[in-house]
Amino acid sequence: MEALLPFLKNRKSIGFVPTMGALHVGHVSLVEQASIENDCVVVSIFVNPTQFDNPTDLQKYPRTIENDIAHLKRFSKNIFIFSPNASDLYNQNISSKHYDYSGIEHEMEGKHRIGHFDGVGTVLNLFFRIVKPDRAYLGEKDFQQLQIVKKLVEIENLPVKVVGCPIVRESSGLAMSSRNKRLNPEQLNEAVLIYKTLLKVKENFKLLSISKLNQLVEKEFKNHPYLSLEYFEIADTETLKTTIYKSKKKNYRGFIACFIGGVRLIDNMALN
Ligand code: AMP
Repeated sequence: MEALLPFLKNRKSIGFVPTMGALHVGHVSLVEQASIENDCVVVSIFVNPTQFDNPTDLQKYPRTIENDIAHLKRFSKNIFIFSPNASDLYNQNISSKHYDYSGIEHEMEGKHRIGHFDGVGTVLNLFFRIVKPDRAYLGEKDFQQLQIVKKLVEIENLPVKVVGCPIVRESSGLAMSSRNKRLNPEQLNEAVLIYKTLLKVKENFKLLSISKLNQLVEKEFKNHPYLSLEYFEIADTETLKTTIYKSKKKNYRGFIACFIGGVRLIDNMALN
């Protein structure tokens, strides 16, 4: 990226926010943090084909580049948008490299979206080598992805600090997501159940066993007219392995993936 050369030459710091566009306030919070901590910020807007396991999801993914540019214009700092096309970025070979992320890739999203984290690793490795950021900002909204990217920079030996940023929610509690743009007002209302259920699990975390907490979640989603649960797991924050027993020494998060009207949403919450 030629525009970054003066920053690289003068050893100015570069913050990087990788996104798939359809920007919302959650994305903007990452850009805000990056612009506070760096001399300039690169925001990539790229719907990465290699991380989609479902062609319909890829095709229907919202693309709102004009709006995205408007969202970023209000920043006074040096902001660069990087929005390559797939064949240029991948040099005509749109495929993933396989990564061994020490097992994290086999949990949750990895189980349900085959090849997803290979696609994420491949595209971010390309981006990191082009942008050469000092810091990369990723949301805890995709908590497993955040852990994967921390591993990726170790594997690829990249001098990038990966910074995790808190989940930004609508006033209803629903986690902001580009995919929310595909929901109608009724579905948006119903989707708040994801947040409410995670909150219920958190409130009952000390009182109930893991199996009782799992049952509680299943009950919330059972026979729901709009939402269907793909998975709920309580996992160790470090390893992301599903837990059956609680240990006082460990930190846990609850993770939900579900469908509403054909749209797949994920969310998670720290439980202790
Ligand atoms: P995406 O465009 O969905 O690939 O997301 C780009 C980045 O924004 C990822 O690091 C996400 O984790 C992060 N992100 C998406 N939604 C939110 C949110 N509601 N709060 C915080 N970060 C988010």
